[in-house]
Amino acid sequence: MNAIDIKNLSKTFVSTRTGERVIALENVNLSIPQGEFTAIVGPSGCGKSTLLSIMAGILAATEGQAVHFGETITGPAPDRGVLFQDYALFPWLTVRQNIAFGPKALGTPADSYEPEVDRLITVVGLEGFGDRLPHELSGGMRQRCALARMLANNPRTWLMDEPLAAVDLQTRTLLQEEILRVWGEDRPREDRPTIVFITHGIDEAVLLADRVVVLGRRPGRVKAEMIIDLPRPRFEHRDPAAEGRQVQQIWDEIREEARTAILED
Ligand code: ADP
Ligand code: MG
Repeated sequence: MNAIDIKNLSKTFVSTRTGERVIALENVNLSIPQGEFTAIVGPSGCGKSTLLSIMAGILAATEGQAVHFGETITGPAPDRGVLFQDYALFPWLTVRQNIAFGPKALGTPADSYEPEVDRLITVVGLEGFGDRLPHELSGGMRQRCALARMLANNPRTWLMDEPLAAVDLQTRTLLQEEILRVWGEDRPREDRPTIVFITHGIDEAVLLADRVVVLGRRPGRVKAEMIIDLPRPRFEHRDPAAEGRQVQQIWDEIREEARTAILED
């Protein structure tokens, strides 16, 4: 079963000011198997965020469709959780209130979501910080809070757009490991959520994912797809040489294009 099917999907932006058209995605076809961790990589501006926003239901496709477990995506849904690079927390709400926001909005009674909020605070390592406001937290802690907020709706699919791009290297390593742990690396595939994880770090994609999808330059198309069959849990079996070979393989696919991109920019 596929969690997501992208079928002949195109997205054109038309500037309301100049009338200029930008083809962000052109005839993209892609399947994301249920319970897998799929990473999407590609040069800046190739349409990664556009594709993820269409999966999230925040943007509509110009042509074609995005399907989630057999249903055409027509808008956002709690079943598809989203995590962005810039945390997107409500600055006037505490950590606890941010995490409770989704269940509360869905009308879940407080006595049923409050224990769950407490549990999530522990899961993401924010014990003792529940009453802080976002600006009182470090970048890494804010992203932990955003992760917990996404988890609070218990989504089947996690859509993550460069979630670790804004945190420092040490925090990123910690959070990479935690995302895999919370996802449930050693659980059977059918019991796991599906992850779509956008990154421009090819090494990050190889470290985390089961499958790496490479998007080509504008107009965005799927250029290559690679299975990463490194053993899990990944952080218990780190093998830099094996990872390096996979990274190299992906680089071989995109080197020419990356070079053109640099020359044109
Ligand atoms: P990526 O996330 O891979 O860096 P994006 O999906 O953000 O790429 O953007 C793909 C292309 O679409 C870029 O050329 C970008 O300028 C353009 N684009 C994205 N969003 C808009 C928008 N709202 N209006 C016009 N053009 C946009
Ligand atoms: Mg982007």
